[in-house]
Amino acid sequence: MRRASQRLKDFDSSVFQEVFRKQQALINPIDLSVGLPEGETPQYIKDAGIRAIQDNYTTYTSANGLPELREAIAAKLQTENKITTDKDSVTVVPGLTTGLLLTYLAILDPGDEVIVMDPSYPPYHYLVGLADATLKRIPTLPNFQLDLEAVEAGISQKTRIIVINTPNNPTGAVYPKEDLVKLANIASRYGTLIISDEMYESFVYAGKHFSIGSMYPNTITMNGFSKAYAMTGWRLGYITGPAEIIQTLNQLQQYAVFCSSSIAQHAALEAFKQPTVSREPYLMKRQIVHDQLTRAGYDIQGNDGAYYTYFKVPDGQTDLDFITTAAEHNLLLLPGRAFSKDKTYVRLSYGGMIEDVQKGLAIIAHITK
Ligand code: PLP
Repeated sequence: MRRASQRLKDFDSSVFQEVFRKQQALINPIDLSVGLPEGETPQYIKDAGIRAIQDNYTTYTSANGLPELREAIAAKLQTENKITTDKDSVTVVPGLTTGLLLTYLAILDPGDEVIVMDPSYPPYHYLVGLADATLKRIPTLPNFQLDLEAVEAGISQKTRIIVINTPNNPTGAVYPKEDLVKLANIASRYGTLIISDEMYESFVYAGKHFSIGSMYPNTITMNGFSKAYAMTGWRLGYITGPAEIIQTLNQLQQYAVFCSSSIAQHAALEAFKQPTVSREPYLMKRQIVHDQLTRAGYDIQGNDGAYYTYFKVPDGQTDLDFITTAAEHNLLLLPGRAFSKDKTYVRLSYGGMIEDVQKGLAIIAHITK
């Protein structure tokens, strides 16, 4: 019996399964593979979640989310990101990743093209096929910055969306405002939508976060609570963009999601009342990672935001060779092929505790011949 649809024929999560297998085989590994921020969800947010349950905020909300939460999100987007929006142009989603899938489904027709930078967050690539659209990868190697000429050259009559992510997973690159302005001009000339994933906006160490949606109205800005408030498991994100797209997304949510968790929404409302997680520990870890990998002979590019460092493995090795040797020394990393067509990079996450990051760096120095 056929089990999977043709739409899933290119889905391949074997890389993650492989890392999971390695993880299971080790006792107390140093895990620098996962993309978790440091520490637990702050207590005041947990308390708000518990209160929401006790106060019986446990029923469906409207498909697009609680009005007071959308109001708070719109205010944040206006003041911090300088994006013109309002509560009806915001929709709450059960995590940015699901929001991305819904957005692709809401916008794309068969044959449409989506431009995605390579390397980048894997769902950008894989979910394109679910909308029967075609993926076009634009490399950003070796400096991980936008290659604007290549982006423009990649645009065709069929291009509907350009997806960007700054600060970037997996490279840590932060795109300068000048490049984002140029990208907006290109997109405007060709009438292309931009999806801007700003999940790591709280983690910028060099330069300043700039939201392209503040100057290009055909931007769909996506963000969420996972990293900024250490709420990865609560599954809550939000999207703003052109009103018709948000309305279509709301209709789709009505049938595909019904609504995001009411408990998570009440907790998020409380989260917004206080600052996001502190950047300070990440600043320190980022510097340590940069210095020690440079000392071990690696050329470190990007690394200006998020909490990832993406580096090329020594000549003659593939990403899988490198992560296998690392695992033999009790260290877990992710192979670059999870994010890219290129198979010679690995991603190190310094989201976790500084002691683990230091131990992991010592192992990398040790296995680097
Ligand atoms: N966007 C990027 C670039 C990410 O790296 C991640 C998680 O690693 C997400 C989105 C996940 O967002 P969410 O937890 O809201 O689905």
